[in-house]
Amino acid sequence: NKMVYAVGGLGNIRVFCRCRPLNKEEVSAGFSTVIDFDAAKDGYLGVLPSTSSKKSFKFDRVFTPKDDQVAVFEDASPVVISVLDGYNVCIFAYGQTGTGKTFTMEGTAQNRGVNYRTIEELFKVAKERSDTVTYNISVSVLEVYNEQIRDLLAAPPTSKKLEIRQASEGVHHVPGLVEAKVGNVKEVWDVLQAGSNARAVGSNNVNEHSSRSHCMLCITVIAKNMINGECTKSKLWLVDLAGSERLAKTDVQGDRLKEAQNINRSLSALGDVVSALANKSSHVPFRNSKLTHLLQDSLGGDSKMLMFVQISPSENDFGETLSSLNFATRVR
Ligand code: ADP
Ligand code: MG
Repeated sequence: NKMVYAVGGLGNIRVFCRCRPLNKEEVSAGFSTVIDFDAAKDGYLGVLPSTSSKKSFKFDRVFTPKDDQVAVFEDASPVVISVLDGYNVCIFAYGQTGTGKTFTMEGTAQNRGVNYRTIEELFKVAKERSDTVTYNISVSVLEVYNEQIRDLLAAPPTSKKLEIRQASEGVHHVPGLVEAKVGNVKEVWDVLQAGSNARAVGSNNVNEHSSRSHCMLCITVIAKNMINGECTKSKLWLVDLAGSERLAKTDVQGDRLKEAQNINRSLSALGDVVSALANKSSHVPFRNSKLTHLLQDSLGGDSKMLMFVQISPSENDFGETLSSLNFATRVR
């Protein structure tokens, strides 16, 4: 059987903006909202600094604090499903720590996010198509921290050095990375739990650690069409990026400085790659970071990318919000 691999090139990019509600602390501190959602239905978002005139941004979709996980997934699901049609897909959440990246991607047990809903949807659609296509689905969970790849499914969670290789067909892979075969949602859920437990190992503050590393879930789909015998292999990446905030200079020393530099470098590399793709530039600098190098097959070509730009509505986060919105404009 001929195996058809999806490989990167020029892109298909979507950008959604999601704003979380004001939290209790912000309300009790008396902070007001600086985001204007009047034209959110048409994809416009306004920012209202007290000092200057209103700035407006246009997205493919704007989710207000009132939009729930179901509404968000409804708009993300067509992108997700295309992995079953042989497309490589990459979905990631960008933004300052505390703006809801993990809420959007992972969600909570009561309020499942994109990851869980994606997997549920993939199995549902795979079942609907089972007369004509057989799907094999496997999952890898990894973390990129300080430009090092850590396999969160490896047992025991070793510090084995993982590198990215490019096979002859052009496909990028990480030799030695665990790919867990999964047959249903429950099995995936167990795998995700294992990954999330491994993430906690060796860090004394899990939340802090996770805001400084990129958490990456890769779903590999092998589809065999039983009518024409054709096989396709494609990948769906679901990425919860490290926090994009700039740290106060006084906080940044030693290990924290190194972390901050690595985050900064990889998020800039991501911006450079996506902006090169959006501008149809002939050179796309995928190799400037582990993050972009890993995602290479799923960024560009006929692959589909969806970025969630996560923001806070609060006036005290105005600077970071503006910088996230500006990041997003590089991509369009
Ligand atoms: P990040 O991963 O970007 O650091 P989190 O996902 O941890 O941010 O979100 C910070 C807090 O805000 C969490 O308590 C989360 O449950 C809450 N939150 C984020 N987005 C929303 C939302 N859209 N609706 C309700 N609560 C949210
Ligand atoms: Mg988080």
